[in-house]
Amino acid sequence: MPAPTANLEFRDRTVTVMGLGGFGGGVGAVRFLAEAGAKVIVADLRSEKELLPSLAQLDPAWPITLRLGQHDEADFRNSDLVVVSPAVPKNSPFLAVARDAGIPLTSEMNLFWERNRGRVLAITGSNGKSTTTALTHSILASDPAPRRCWLGGNIGISLLPEVRQIQPEDWVVLELSSFQLEDLAPLRPQPEIAVVTNFSPNHLDRHGTVEAYRAAKQNLLSWQTAEQFAVVNSLSEVANWPTAATRLRFGPTDEKQFGVFGEGLEVMARIPSEPSRELRMPLRRWLQLPGTHNWQNAQAAIAAALAAGASREAIEKGVSNFRGLPHRLEFLDEVHGRRCFNDSKSTTPEATVLALQSFDEPIVLLAGGYDKQIDLSAIAAAAVTRCRAVALLGQTGPQLGKLIEQAARAANVSGPNCRGFESLAPAVAWSLQESAPGDIVLLSPGCASYDWFQNYIERGEQFAALVRAAHG
Ligand code: ADP
Repeated sequence: MPAPTANLEFRDRTVTVMGLGGFGGGVGAVRFLAEAGAKVIVADLRSEKELLPSLAQLDPAWPITLRLGQHDEADFRNSDLVVVSPAVPKNSPFLAVARDAGIPLTSEMNLFWERNRGRVLAITGSNGKSTTTALTHSILASDPAPRRCWLGGNIGISLLPEVRQIQPEDWVVLELSSFQLEDLAPLRPQPEIAVVTNFSPNHLDRHGTVEAYRAAKQNLLSWQTAEQFAVVNSLSEVANWPTAATRLRFGPTDEKQFGVFGEGLEVMARIPSEPSRELRMPLRRWLQLPGTHNWQNAQAAIAAALAAGASREAIEKGVSNFRGLPHRLEFLDEVHGRRCFNDSKSTTPEATVLALQSFDEPIVLLAGGYDKQIDLSAIAAAAVTRCRAVALLGQTGPQLGKLIEQAARAANVSGPNCRGFESLAPAVAWSLQESAPGDIVLLSPGCASYDWFQNYIERGEQFAALVRAAHG
């Protein structure tokens, strides 16, 4: 259980940051603590080499001790506070050492939450969190109002070092993971606007049961009050999760509810501040992102932004200017009439199926990667109906090729043209050759990247560079 730290004085205290990680939270915590005068121990099981991008962000002038590659129990027994990364399993024996020694535990997000004076718009859900968060921020940042709008949390940005600059009238748009929400529970979070995009069993390896995972997510709504807003997906069980807040639903049909409704071509909004006014918006024209799932994300973002008082003009500008997050069905470029998309973040078959379903045009897909021993037949089935050709990548390439052949035979069709590759560059060249003007060229691997790349970011960046080079 994380301990309250609101009144903690950090000067000359020893604080262990457990898990530096690569997503911003660890570095943000170290920077905040070092600038507050603490002596910081950075404890991470990963090696210096693996942590290089994060280590490069640490100022050599800060009083930091690095303890990498393995933990030292003393760092957990003898410090004044342990700041635990959300990625650390709750049953870590080193957390038990700290607990037994009576050392308070907290997290980067808890430290932020206790100190933040801004107005919080917080977003969680099983899928679409980052997209909805970035899009909501894009809308609020398009408002000409003279207040700032901050973006942070699980999206990979720590606002903790900036927390004292955040003014009470500023909006803070935060993406929260189930792990962050689990740790926030003792603080009884009351976001002014909460968004839950959807819910499906996920991360059960860490939460143990679907009930525990659901309970963690429900922490976002549980302590809200009647003056606050809960933006929830009308197609999901989250629509009925308990909250005292005013519900704004989003979904395909107009349920005469407050919220944002429509099929994506045009959406209609009704909000409690002006209940008689119905706002119509041409989402199909504004939204640049492919896929019906992104209509849902846009509806959630628009509902949240309306609850925050955004104008129609800000919504139009914020939605129209949003190109998607890097590596998530991100539009890269048009090469000789082929539109190229980078969906390197897709590391599961479900994500690749969703990507394939996002386009009406014929697709040349680049898929495959590190072998997590999961069943790829869903990708094969979708590829047979949607793809003109498939470039097979990585360890799982041959297996995916066989599955596509089987699926085509079962459907009694010739199926997409498939070819295996040993590296990305020839796969991209072949994909552009195999495609016709008007087609989509899509990197959506459906597998992790560790066989050929450091991570999905490196994979996506290499793909983007190859597409740019082909564009000339
Ligand atoms: P998260 O932050 O929850 O991981 P992202 O916005 O980063 O979600 O999107 C990651 C992937 O999840 C996308 O590339 C897409 O495959 C899928 N996705 C995004 N939004 C949705 C949604 N509303 N419903 C289902 N899947 C989605």
